[in-house]
Amino acid sequence: MRRIQLANGTTVEVECLSCALTAGLIEPTGGVIYEDEFFHAHQDVAYPIPGLVILASKRHFYCMDELTEDESNRYMKLVRKIRDAQRKELGIEYVYYFYNEDTTHHFHLWMVPRYEWMKPFGNSVESLRPALLHSRNAMNDETNIKHVIECIEKLRRALN
Ligand SMILES: [Zn+2]
Repeated sequence: MRRIQLANGTTVEVECLSCALTAGLIEPTGGVIYEDEFFHAHQDVAYPIPGLVILASKRHFYCMDELTEDESNRYMKLVRKIRDAQRKELGIEYVYYFYNEDTTHHFHLWMVPRYEWMKPFGNSVESLRPALLHSRNAMNDETNIKHVIECIEKLRRALN
């Protein structure tokens, strides 16, 4: 079991966070953005960055070569659709994508909008962790959380 810290400061213990989220056992911050039979899109529960989307498979697996043909086709369509919504609904110019196969959860892609405030943390993959931590430590206030929720609602409307 792993202890997971949520954006609201509480912690939960789960076997696989992605399984718990995609099965609806944990309600993600702001609710589900999109789901179908293969995938589940939600805001990350620990990092309040407006427009950040986690796209997780519903099936429990880890590696890119484990996607079925149907999942693979749906996956790329969905990544493009979510990216399009981030641009059109939230004006997000660039997104950083992060996915590691040796995750402690299962298959999920981070789609992290690139904001001006992230630039001091670097210009590539090295900036991701500091930016995520900054959001959790310095942006976990009511005004920002409200904005994050509004962004989730815009994305949900665009994707459903
Ligand atoms: Zn899982």
